[in-house]
Amino acid sequence: MKPTRGVVLLYEDLCDHWLRWCREGNLTSLGVHKIALPGQGSVDALLEALEKPNGRRIIDKLEEAGVDVEYELHALEWLLPRDLFAKNPAMFRVNADGVRTSDCNLCPSSPEALERVSEGAYKLAKILRQKSHRYFVWLDDAAKAGCSCEKCRAAKLNGADQGILTANAIAAGVKAYDSQATAAYLAYADAKCLPNIAPAENVFLEFAPMDRDHARPLTDPADQRGPAYCRLLEDLLTVFSAETTHVLEYWLDNALYSGYKMPPVKVPFYADICDADTEFYSSLGIPHIKTFASYICEEYHTLHGEPPIVEYGMILEKYLGL
Ligand SMILES: [Zn+2]
Repeated sequence: MKPTRGVVLLYEDLCDHWLRWCREGNLTSLGVHKIALPGQGSVDALLEALEKPNGRRIIDKLEEAGVDVEYELHALEWLLPRDLFAKNPAMFRVNADGVRTSDCNLCPSSPEALERVSEGAYKLAKILRQKSHRYFVWLDDAAKAGCSCEKCRAAKLNGADQGILTANAIAAGVKAYDSQATAAYLAYADAKCLPNIAPAENVFLEFAPMDRDHARPLTDPADQRGPAYCRLLEDLLTVFSAETTHVLEYWLDNALYSGYKMPPVKVPFYADICDADTEFYSSLGIPHIKTFASYICEEYHTLHGEPPIVEYGMILEKYLGL
């Protein structure tokens, strides 16, 4: 399978520069993301923007140039519309205080909820009409956002199990649209542990170590969080195949470094850390690596000139090959 050398940025960041940056950095994949706090309707906002005249102009050009454009979205509140709460509250989660709420996510012990999520994933795939067979449709962007209802507690579902049940439902939905579709299980937020439930055959691992120390390598033995993430990844690879695993890193996540406020700062890219991390990931047999590259956009270029995309691409090429 050919390796993935990619970036994930915000829909708003797309500009003509990205056509050149993908080419110059030899990038194979560009993920389109939205910052998505639960309750803000971010998926609807993206879908509306895509349907406007020229809403897909850059995306179409990237695809014509051979770049896989994929959508990487926190989408549970879109897959399971919140207004269903009045009709069927059992589809929604019970929070840690024992209160059933539609604030985010779902109850994964509810067959009706999983069915709705599957149908939603089918509809979303149909609207997005991406060419790539890989789907990155995630739980809402929230922590401590699992279900603690009686059924989920009796089944001892941890955060990873709840993520797997949801990913399996999403995978069934996208497969109904595209028989070759695969779907991501995101090891992030509440899912930083091992699942006891098996992923469906078309579910792959996506590993996103957001809470790491971004200023030193993941493998730095003097750190606590990095090595804990390394152990988690090694454990997850006893459940998932390394060949289909994706890493989603933060080396160029300039929204993070800009405090989620425009204008963007100059991205603090640590090439040595990116190199050491990529060496570690590739040593585990992982061939698919992307980094967030949010807030690297037209305005970034005006303020700071060329971002370090070529340098990043060369590091990935060094370990993953062309
Ligand atoms: Zn539950």
